[in-house]
Amino acid sequence: MTLDTVIAGGTLVTPTGTLAADLAIADGTIAAVGTADELPTADRYVDATDRLVMPGFVDPHVHIDGLASIETATSGSRAAALGGVTTLLSFAWQLDRSLPDAVREGRAILADSLVDYGLHAGITREDPAVFDDLGPLCDDGVTSFKLFTVSSYGLDLSYGFVDELFEHLAAAGGVAIGHTEDPSVCAAHADRLKRDGKGDPTWYPHSRPDYAEAMAADSVARLAVEHGTQYYGLHTSSRAATAALASYPADLVRGETCTHYTVLDASAHDRLGALAQLAPPLRRPDDVAAMFEALADGTISVVSSDHTAYTRASKVGATWWETSNGANALQTSVPVFHDAAVTEHGFSYPSFVRLVSTNPARTFGLPQKGTLDPGTDADVVVFDPHETYTITADDNASEADYSIYEGREVTGRVKQTFVRGELVADEGTIVGEPGHGTFLARERPDWSA
Ligand SMILES: [Zn+2]
Repeated sequence: MTLDTVIAGGTLVTPTGTLAADLAIADGTIAAVGTADELPTADRYVDATDRLVMPGFVDPHVHIDGLASIETATSGSRAAALGGVTTLLSFAWQLDRSLPDAVREGRAILADSLVDYGLHAGITREDPAVFDDLGPLCDDGVTSFKLFTVSSYGLDLSYGFVDELFEHLAAAGGVAIGHTEDPSVCAAHADRLKRDGKGDPTWYPHSRPDYAEAMAADSVARLAVEHGTQYYGLHTSSRAATAALASYPADLVRGETCTHYTVLDASAHDRLGALAQLAPPLRRPDDVAAMFEALADGTISVVSSDHTAYTRASKVGATWWETSNGANALQTSVPVFHDAAVTEHGFSYPSFVRLVSTNPARTFGLPQKGTLDPGTDADVVVFDPHETYTITADDNASEADYSIYEGREVTGRVKQTFVRGELVADEGTIVGEPGHGTFLARERPDWSA
């Protein structure tokens, strides 16, 4: 056997442990794990002395979708590669067309991606015709379906429609993923703030209280359990919503949080104004603490970026209700979360790898990702756990020209990123070509396995 690459001298981190070994890559897959004298010679050796060698990060919540983000596949996937993300899942929105047509367009939008990608299909209208599309889309590898209970774009679904949708989705074998905040509670809070002229971004978190998030999280999870539908709560931000998800069986209800909910609270608006405006909003320090409790006990099993690109000019200078919600973080999300989880909170490296790689891969039907097992895709991150650097938007590959982590010093840096054996980012520089990424036809996830 001829090897293409050996990543030598590092410490491998798997979902279950760490191991001092070399990692051999051939034909885009992991060929072997072993010592230098056990492995055939390779065309290329990458020195990973004093570095960690991890499965590429899997970010299951990324907006490169032409709806709520100015990101392109090229810019966004470059940001991903620089941040160690080798697989991203973005969205195909139904809007005024059929869901299969939306998926076709979503695949076309992502064709220039440098890293591998999959799609969630976003159901945004209460049209029963969509029920017949669920099974065929799952057959084509789009096995997760997004819904909003509240939306800035008028795309939200009623609980009644979700009830019927979940019955069909359980039969199709797909996973539901949800943005859950109670629409009428949020609307009432927003109206009251507008009435009182409270338009400064520091008021924004008051427009979407934690109990509105918990109410909708509970309602949608309850409907999922009623129908036996696998349900994944997106961007969980509060102790209250976490408790709602935790009250249902884990083989049917899972949740993610995002890096920003683990390192920022609502006081960030004092510094960042509307740049920190996210939905759900940044919350109290106690909610930040709750995220780490839930990540430690498994109630929340995935950390994503919810990457959404806007320009600084489009975010600032208006009232909070005239501002778009969301922030770019694909390039910085995992390094920032690593610093918070491992350096500050003492999470082990295997647990870190599970949260940012293995669990999202398993949750969304990607058995060839999130592992260093021989035979799986050679998506690999070489990581220096000791290097300290300061985040600045000057380094952004994203179309967005700011960072909510501007000036933050983090320990731990992505050195090399490999996607199916090809080096795509090296020491902070993109070395791969647009279009290297491929569409991932995902399996129907089985969370009971
Ligand atoms: Zn999102």
